[in-house]
Amino acid sequence: MTVLFAPNIADEAAALLTRLGVAPGAFTGGGREVRSPITGETIAKVHDASTADAAAAIEAAHAAFAAWRKVPAPRRGELVRLLGEELRAAKADLGLLVTLEAGKTLSEGLGEVQEMIDICDYAVGLSRQLFGLAIATERPDHRMMETWHPLGVVGVISAFNFPVAVWSWNSALALVCGDPVVWKPSEKTPLTALAVQAIFERAAARFGDAPAHLSSVIIGGREVGEALVDHPKVALVSATGSTAMGRAVGPRLAARFARSLLELGGNNAAVVAPSADLDLTLRGVAFAAMGTAGQRCTTLRRLFVHESIYEGFVAKLKAAYASVRIGDPRDPDTLIGPLIDEGSAAAMRKALDDATAAGGKVTGGETVKGPGQGVYVRPAIVEMTAQADVVRRETFAPILYVMPYSDLDQAIALNNDVPQGLSSSIFTLNAREAERFVAGSDCGIANVNIGPSGAEIGGAFGGEKETGGGREAGSDSWKAYMRRATNTVNYGETLPLAQGVKFDI
Ligand code: NAD
Repeated sequence: MTVLFAPNIADEAAALLTRLGVAPGAFTGGGREVRSPITGETIAKVHDASTADAAAAIEAAHAAFAAWRKVPAPRRGELVRLLGEELRAAKADLGLLVTLEAGKTLSEGLGEVQEMIDICDYAVGLSRQLFGLAIATERPDHRMMETWHPLGVVGVISAFNFPVAVWSWNSALALVCGDPVVWKPSEKTPLTALAVQAIFERAAARFGDAPAHLSSVIIGGREVGEALVDHPKVALVSATGSTAMGRAVGPRLAARFARSLLELGGNNAAVVAPSADLDLTLRGVAFAAMGTAGQRCTTLRRLFVHESIYEGFVAKLKAAYASVRIGDPRDPDTLIGPLIDEGSAAAMRKALDDATAAGGKVTGGETVKGPGQGVYVRPAIVEMTAQADVVRRETFAPILYVMPYSDLDQAIALNNDVPQGLSSSIFTLNAREAERFVAGSDCGIANVNIGPSGAEIGGAFGGEKETGGGREAGSDSWKAYMRRATNTVNYGETLPLAQGVKFDI
């Protein structure tokens, strides 16, 4: 493998952070080492927030809420419009920083920033469409309506694999809905968070009269996340990460009756039916299963191929797997970058061992030498005869379990027979099969002739069962960030009570 970049990634990251407006003191001299998965080297030392710092940030955001909630929503949209402009200007630098810190290919790093820009555009339009309902009332001379109001401080907890987009899905909507945001990014990706905060501050300065502390970042591990979860002045916590994290966070939020929006692990499947366009399917499956080195919540992890086309299709898939270029994600020819760290590689090895023990036949999965101490692997295909336990759990690495099926109902049942319920798809040219799959899949996302990964921001994103049930981004996801009020107004001269109840004094 050719290493095209010689490199001191720490210098490259420092130059990017400085250009993006982050003060050097924020990424040097701190106690938390940040490593680039590209080479495994330390590229910065950031300062962790204490739980007292987290509480102070929440109090400051709560003070901002009192002012921001009174700003008309279309004017709040103007701040998000400016944020979108600043993101456009910063796209190249922020996209590369995502690549350095999270190890995504440059094309995916830039795509992630584009997604931030897209959700800003969406939220600007939304700022003029936060509408409620007029509802028929049984009482004469009355009007009943539903109105939407700002909710309060929104806490965002995010995962390493979408280090900036998740913040924007939440924040662009929260800000137009009238809510300040306090963000705890993954401890593995604090640099991109510092950069986003600097970008936000530029937008806020251009806006002019935004209250201070509308958006803030608190860096740290689980304890800082817990401070956000437990604080009574955080009205909603939107938490993205593993199901284990959701299991810890969900009950704590429920205990104080706070709102939670959980975006947790996935175990996504695709069905390849006999009529499928196999060239298109091959490309769709390859991107969904291997892209981002298998580190997307929507990564394709289970493939059910009809027995009549199984052998030929799996042979083609293996050839595609053998040919993908693995290496430095800054190289435009690279399709597969590094795993985030050695822990991921260990989880992958363990899953491959478990699959072998359950009768699976593994192709690929070996370590590949990349730059420095980065952890690189060839994506693995594992042919299974049944959906064993290892297949039913999410391993956050590029492993695709492949199984034959004979009948569509059986394939749909297999799709649904896992604890997670995020994304799913079918490849078929048969309209009946497509519709049966879309109606039968129990996931939050069910696609036809595209893979399960790579969602657009216009739709509501999220999944069922152990994926947590949350929805964010498009459609009516904004409602999670607002308080709904039912208002009944009597413009008559009498006081009729509902249901004919009498109470005459
Ligand atoms: P993780 O669960 O290890 O960490 C996610 C975040 O939660 C981090 O910021 C972490 O510090 C925080 N956290 C962990 N335990 C906590 C606790 N008890 N209280 C408060 N905060 C806590 O996940 P990860 O390894 O960063 O990301 C990979 C996982 O995220 C995968 O399971 C993937 O499927 C999932 N994910 C889901 C979505 C989605 O939209 N459904 C999107 C991206 C990633």
